[in-house]
Amino acid sequence: MKSQEICSKCILDTTVSDIEFDSQGVCNYCHAYDRIIKTIPIGQEATDKLDKIVAKIKKDGVGNDYDCIIGLSGGVDSSYLAYQVVSLGLRPLVVHVDTGWNSDIAVQNIENVVKILKLDLFTVVIDWEEMRDLQLAFFKASVPDCDIPQDHVFPAILNKIAAEHGIKHSISGHNIVTEYVLPKNWSYDSNDLEHIKDIHKQFGMKTLVKYPMLSLFKRTIYYKFIKPVESHRFLYYIPYNKDEIKSFIIDNLGWKDYGGKHFESRFTKFFQAYFLPTKFGFDKRKAHLSNLIMSNQMSREDAINELTKSQYNASNLEEDLDYIISKLDISRDEWSEIMALPIKQHNSYKSDYNLTWFKYYKKVTLLIKGLLGR
Ligand SMILES: [Zn+2]
Repeated sequence: MKSQEICSKCILDTTVSDIEFDSQGVCNYCHAYDRIIKTIPIGQEATDKLDKIVAKIKKDGVGNDYDCIIGLSGGVDSSYLAYQVVSLGLRPLVVHVDTGWNSDIAVQNIENVVKILKLDLFTVVIDWEEMRDLQLAFFKASVPDCDIPQDHVFPAILNKIAAEHGIKHSISGHNIVTEYVLPKNWSYDSNDLEHIKDIHKQFGMKTLVKYPMLSLFKRTIYYKFIKPVESHRFLYYIPYNKDEIKSFIIDNLGWKDYGGKHFESRFTKFFQAYFLPTKFGFDKRKAHLSNLIMSNQMSREDAINELTKSQYNASNLEEDLDYIISKLDISRDEWSEIMALPIKQHNSYKSDYNLTWFKYYKKVTLLIKGLLGR
């Protein structure tokens, strides 16, 4: 039992399994953020670094219709990234992956961004019956991160399309200011295909034929050495203030707010605002808000105040619950059974990282790195 319940600097607490506090009551996540932020260039150094990357992307893209690929969900980061990429003179192929859960606002935001920035949009629609079956399998597996079926398909599709079009660079909308902090026991690696396959084998009903998969071989070898698609995080090198960015995209890209992080997907909203807090006691807002405190964009007092606000009122919750279970094609009783299942951890299921060839591959690459002195 930890004597202290909540960090004295951020708002992470003992619902985070590996939280530790120093003598000042500051948590290990605050310290980790301070360490990582020192490694990210700022000011002129950041601009120079970004210019260098952009120059390389342009050079590698000569003769191709596109020089890079970006994903567009209609959320804050991907919309702002699209604007930045165009401003830097790049020619992106924009991909939207429709996993079946887009809110109406997301659809409108995507249309506006693409129209205003005059971009080509490539939309990939995931086979709904397979997505539904996989999402239900995760719920029945009773693990916390039931958003993995959606999260896995984004890099799987982006890498595949990039390789098919001879595009060598993929630019992600990940940012360090709001997305660095992610407590270990609240989520799991969505790239882990063995994990997905194992859960689906035990709890799925259909065969996955069309569901896009990114194997460990593909992500560690194929897209690194055979058909390389280099990944970049531009938002690390651009000043990032959440409120200012929101105002900017509202004014310039016709963007509309969803009222919550990752609420562009109706499933993700329900998952983060109801399922995780109710079944597992995890409130992801604690991570997002703590990240904002660490990056000096919100006071701890405002974050605590924000946390007291309800994410759902009773009628909205009923409405979303009805929508989710009817889309998943299950009854209220079946949903109640899922909520009541005993909690399991992700390590109760198979993982990519236990594959025999990967263990040898790791040993060999470590040996080579050691020999090269890296
Ligand atoms: Zn902290």
